[in-house]
Amino acid sequence: NNYVADENRYKKMNYRRTGNSGLLLPEISLGLWHNFGDVDDFKNSRNLLKCAFDNGITHFDLANNYGPSPGSAEKNFGKILKKDFKNYRDELVISSKAGYDMWEGPYGDFGSKKYLIASLNQSLKRMGLDYVDIFYHHRPDYDTPLEETMGTLDLMVKQGKALYVGLSNYLPEEAEKAFKILRNLGTPCLIHQPRYSLFDRWVENGLLDLLGNSGVGAICFSPLAQGMLTNKYIKGLPKDSRAAKDSPFLNRDKVMEMLPKITALNEIAKSRNQNLAQMAISWILKDDRITSVLIGASKTEQILDSIKAIENTKFTDDDLAKINKIANS
Ligand code: NDP
Repeated sequence: NNYVADENRYKKMNYRRTGNSGLLLPEISLGLWHNFGDVDDFKNSRNLLKCAFDNGITHFDLANNYGPSPGSAEKNFGKILKKDFKNYRDELVISSKAGYDMWEGPYGDFGSKKYLIASLNQSLKRMGLDYVDIFYHHRPDYDTPLEETMGTLDLMVKQGKALYVGLSNYLPEEAEKAFKILRNLGTPCLIHQPRYSLFDRWVENGLLDLLGNSGVGAICFSPLAQGMLTNKYIKGLPKDSRAAKDSPFLNRDKVMEMLPKITALNEIAKSRNQNLAQMAISWILKDDRITSVLIGASKTEQILDSIKAIENTKFTDDDLAKINKIANS
């Protein structure tokens, strides 16, 4: 019953330096937003983490509110760490975040010192950890002084509760200000976590330039547009898919709207000897300002499938032109 990780795991993955920092991250990281809550099958969650680690995925991304219920992904992750990964803590990069609604009252949301400190303490307890490797402010809070939020991130590092800090969903202008404050405090921002996929390209409008020029890493979430950028919806809605489960984040209508683009992109993927999931991920990895692509998975087969993206991250100008034509149509 004792899990022993695959001894060849580090041969199967490439690692990139996170901005100017000392930290290397796997080209593919695994997020626990879905499939790790108390509504999910614990055994499957456990197998997902083992499968990821066996393939060199050393980075697991969490947040206070992942579940459902909120907090349950961290709790389950903590249980799995204790059962299976006890001997591997120093081979893992574990992140958490706070910034969205987590508990009742004025101190369970946004970006105050009061909220963030309490939330990190809760996260550490749920996961059974002394520290997280990366702690993020999950989204900007325009009503709290940036100095307070950044000062809190710096404090967490000085207290030893986080090794590095990051920002998520910050627009370039506010990110730039935040980087400056953090640098002056002696805790440079390690990484930024934005949404980025073939279907959502806002980061190309200044953010990636800023990150590249600032020596800050980038880890991109929802690279598959929550599963739309795969071949799974081309022949209908599989019963066990996110879109069929009536998720608040993805539904049938959205999938139907994107289907013509999905089908056309799938043909380009085939011409590259990839499937669409692999092409969508490798398309992000073609940019060396990107440190890691943050995937989700409900099945171990999806991890094994998606991971093959790292084998072909070069695109011809012709491929790119065709992809852009479809994505922007
Ligand atoms: P993806 O775009 O990678 O979507 C993942 C989903 O797509 C899976 O759960 C699965 O859904 C389906 N899928 C994955 N691989 C395949 C495959 N090879 N073939 C077919 N279907 C596949 O990412 P997520 O939207 O899940 O986000 C990933 C992570 O990013 C999160 O877990 C979280 O850590 C982070 N995140 C951060 C946010 C932030 O604000 N900072 C916001 C959102 C996410 P199914 O099988 O159920 O259909």
